[in-house]
Amino acid sequence: MPGRADPLATYRRMRRFEATPEPAGDEARPGAEPGGRFVVQRHRATRLHYDFRLEVDGVLASWAVPKGPTLDPDVRRQAIHVEDHPIEYFEFEGVIPKGEYGGGDVIVWDWGHWRPAKAKDADAAKAIAKGELHFDLHGERLQGRFALVRTDRSAPRSGKEQWLLLHKHDEFAVPGWDAEDIPQSVKSGRTNDEVAAEPSSLWRSDLPADKAEQQLRVEVPTWEPPTEDELAALDALGGKEGEWALQDRVLRLTNLDKVLFPGRAGEDPVTKRDLVRYAAQIGPWLLPYLWDRPLNLHRYPNGVGKPGFWHKEVPSHAPEWLNRWHNDDADPDETQWYFVADSVPALAWLANYGAIELHPWTSSVRDSHEPTWALIDVDPGPKTSWDELLLLARLYRTALDHMGVEGQPKVTGQRGIQVWVPIAGGCSFDDTRAWVETISRAIGRTVPELVSWEWTKSDRKGLARLDYTQNARNKTLVAPFSPRPAAGAPVSVPIEWDELDDPDLRPDRWTTRTVFDRLAERGDPLRPVIGRQQRLPSL
Ligand code: MN
Repeated sequence: MPGRADPLATYRRMRRFEATPEPAGDEARPGAEPGGRFVVQRHRATRLHYDFRLEVDGVLASWAVPKGPTLDPDVRRQAIHVEDHPIEYFEFEGVIPKGEYGGGDVIVWDWGHWRPAKAKDADAAKAIAKGELHFDLHGERLQGRFALVRTDRSAPRSGKEQWLLLHKHDEFAVPGWDAEDIPQSVKSGRTNDEVAAEPSSLWRSDLPADKAEQQLRVEVPTWEPPTEDELAALDALGGKEGEWALQDRVLRLTNLDKVLFPGRAGEDPVTKRDLVRYAAQIGPWLLPYLWDRPLNLHRYPNGVGKPGFWHKEVPSHAPEWLNRWHNDDADPDETQWYFVADSVPALAWLANYGAIELHPWTSSVRDSHEPTWALIDVDPGPKTSWDELLLLARLYRTALDHMGVEGQPKVTGQRGIQVWVPIAGGCSFDDTRAWVETISRAIGRTVPELVSWEWTKSDRKGLARLDYTQNARNKTLVAPFSPRPAAGAPVSVPIEWDELDDPDLRPDRWTTRTVFDRLAERGDPLRPVIGRQQRLPSL
């Protein structure tokens, strides 16, 4: 089968396995127990059936079970032995295009691990060839001892042998149990109808297995905020240092009463404790922009009154549970391991580390060479007035509207406005940079008196810069909801386009103290477009 040299490579690259509990694939753990993963997919093709698949020797041995597996020990289900499926298909949930083999919709109806029941079942491939396999399932729905037994091999050449799937009489047996009574996916909670209406993936069975899954939408996880008790425990810690239990982690926090940001007029300064609290509370809003990306930090461990510095390499003292990603393209003297902030405790740890600004890459760890955002950065010069900045932002709105491209503005927390445009996979950084440059130069031509294209600040004569150059690998803009290094701890906040007309709008209007009221009222207008697979029109 093409493309099967290392089918789990991408998945592996995303996680460092010594730090996470997930299995790393059998090759990565020699001496692993016999058995492997299993999955049952509810598949509405020409006829509804359940695909029952056992991981055997690096492929998915598969049977189509028209009525679905059952826990009822008095029922035998017909099971048609079908082609082995590639391991990449294991988690697939989505749509197979009409006209292709198996065209229809698929949900992950159950998954877990299987173990051979007896010694003779340990060599599962051999047992299957002999026509009988007994095994235990540890799934979310299917539990207990099952057997697959061949009844008719009259058509062995097509691979469509007739088998039976049955559950033994054991403590997990449930008379009358019917798979059709539970129609939701264990992966997404969605039904086949819901997946068919809005699929997140397509499976192109005409392509090699490692290219067959076409992602239509990236599923963004959700996160829980800290509890009131957890926040109270943070407030109760002494000023020097202490241990804070947050969700499933224990954090060692230091210098909690240190002032990191001077206050705005009439306001208290912002301490490290305040920043840690903010990092934990903003987690559910901020993590959707960080969870699958390398992260560059701008640290101010001695407060924003002192110069900050860029920090990228995960330090050796960082706890093992912090997720990270290795840049395989790095030269030996460049950063090797980058943070991937994917949990609320990770954000709290970074705050304690003095990371004020969080700058995620515009590409994900799935493919660090493919941007998923095109970024427009309207960077005002010293002479650019607020009204002029708004005018420039509105020109981008008009340009995007004209092209039918969706993007959302955000204020930076300092002086600027950015526009984030979600894009489909398959674009290079050269593509996004050229695209943003072309639009920006067109806008610059309509208001040449406001814009400079000079590289060096001193040559710009105080004019605005329409910066397209951050559309590059390892170049970044500040994340939504990241604090900025200024008095009062202002934060970058996504806004609606119409808010450009709000007379109270300012780029540094919201701070770590006030942004939660804003979120309660308006939510995050950028969030619905995260992961949208938008193709940039040619210009
Ligand atoms: Mn099928």
